Amino acid sequence: MTATKVTPAKTTSNKENLFGKSAKEIRQRLQAIGEPAYREKQIRDWIYVKRVLDFAGMTNLSKALRAKLADAFVIEPPATYHKHQSKDGSVKYVFHLEAGGEVEAVYMPMTKGVTMCLSSQVGCAQACSFCMTAQMGFIRNLSPGEIVGQAFAIAHDQQLEDPFNIVMMGMGEPLLNLNNLMKAIDLFTDDLGFGLSPRRITVSTSGHVRNLLKLGQYPKLPRIAVSLNASTDEQRNQLMPVNLRWNIAELIDACKQLPIPPRERVTLEYVLIKDLNDTPADAKRLVRLVANLRCKINLIPFNETEGLSYRQPSLQVIEAFQAILNRSQIRNTVRWSKGRDIGAACGQLATPITKRGADLRLKSGAPSRKAGSAG
Ligand code: SF4
Repeated sequence: MTATKVTPAKTTSNKENLFGKSAKEIRQRLQAIGEPAYREKQIRDWIYVKRVLDFAGMTNLSKALRAKLADAFVIEPPATYHKHQSKDGSVKYVFHLEAGGEVEAVYMPMTKGVTMCLSSQVGCAQACSFCMTAQMGFIRNLSPGEIVGQAFAIAHDQQLEDPFNIVMMGMGEPLLNLNNLMKAIDLFTDDLGFGLSPRRITVSTSGHVRNLLKLGQYPKLPRIAVSLNASTDEQRNQLMPVNLRWNIAELIDACKQLPIPPRERVTLEYVLIKDLNDTPADAKRLVRLVANLRCKINLIPFNETEGLSYRQPSLQVIEAFQAILNRSQIRNTVRWSKGRDIGAACGQLATPITKRGADLRLKSGAPSRKAGSAG
């Protein structure tokens, strides 16, 4: 593993940040400074399509307007101050946020393109006992700009021009920040945003059933992953306190109500933990639980982490568990997490809030997702 600290950055200004604002919010800000609302489309095109963050570079706006905008606003995604390169190709980014706190995101080159794992909250209130983020407790929700800013900064750093996949599986419970999550999905999917298909976005939940059903009504429905991790309520109560509010039966029932397109499936995540949920009896119960659910199961061998006493099952136990699912024709994959050597694997993300590091701020000249269109 290699860790990179980047050079200290300039301090940010007190001007309002347009990064992450919705179309409507930008129109309101323009009207407030006496400018026509239609400029909003031009500005969003520069920010997200051409990835130009400096008003001076927005060459289809008049010089006078560029100066006026620069007087009133800035365009600043969250700063990267620290990144860790894994030997498996993944990179963990730690973002220091102007509004307070730090979050982590992971860049993962896969056989079919790039996937980014992003955070939705600083810390998390869900208290899952196998997760390092839980140990931070809940600190605050991220704004839409702080969510999409993680992807923007990673795309800039990795010089990405092609569309990528997003998994909301970093720090936090995305469905407890539902309004900001939906605004972020709007920015990810808008043609004047990142232009991604909603099918490239996966939202993972610990099982907040009420908000899962709300998300199910959202027109730009992303893919859904549910963190199940147990075959009995007793086990799940121990692993995930959210189960005391909505038990496994209620969670599976909610999954069945989601308007998943005909050829798609809900993903169920099942972290395999030695001597806790990894027996053949667990596998058989799991088969029964999902009998009438269009799903696929990701089996995730627990990533052993300092500070957590759980252990990873042996390969033989993992294979025996999988064989039972296979015999029942339950679609499944064993997922070996990326970034284990840099603490970036599933369940390992956490930042001590006192940690501070050097700070790199994106300013301008980021690569455009439309080749040659940067102004
Ligand atoms: S697993 Fe997810 S929901 Fe549970 S504590 Fe960790 S970040 Fe929160």
